[in-house]
Amino acid sequence: MSTDTNCIFCKIAAGQIPSKKVYEDDDILAFHDINPWAPVHILLIPKRHITSMQDLTPADQALLGKMMVKSTELMAELGVTGGYRHVINTGPDGRQEVQHVHLHVMGGPRPWAKG
Ligand code: AMP
Ligand code: ZN
Repeated sequence: MSTDTNCIFCKIAAGQIPSKKVYEDDDILAFHDINPWAPVHILLIPKRHITSMQDLTPADQALLGKMMVKSTELMAELGVTGGYRHVINTGPDGRQEVQHVHLHVMGGPRPWAKG
């Protein structure tokens, strides 16, 4: 498993930093965002360190597909019935703050803090 010792999401994946975990398997982890924009705001990450969407290869197709499909299952499990938003920020112009690929999923009744 490729990890970056300075990466906060690698540390969360390794259990070295606590998180409010929603789901975990061998490949991916889902946890609540520490600064939620919406009543439910989760992040799905690959456990393997991938810096940004710009670093994906065709070999990552199944991994990213798994994150997308699992995200909808998790929102249903979390009781979100009225819809939700998926967001992935990439690079400086995409305002990516954490340099480890993560899928934001935000939902729950409006109003939201932002977004
Ligand atoms: P982005 O701008 O897409 O890179 O967003 C990074 C997200 O990670 C933000 O929504 C932060 O609130 C969230 N975040 C940063 N550190 C943590 C953490 N330790 N646990 C949970 N979420 C975090
Ligand atoms: Zn990482």
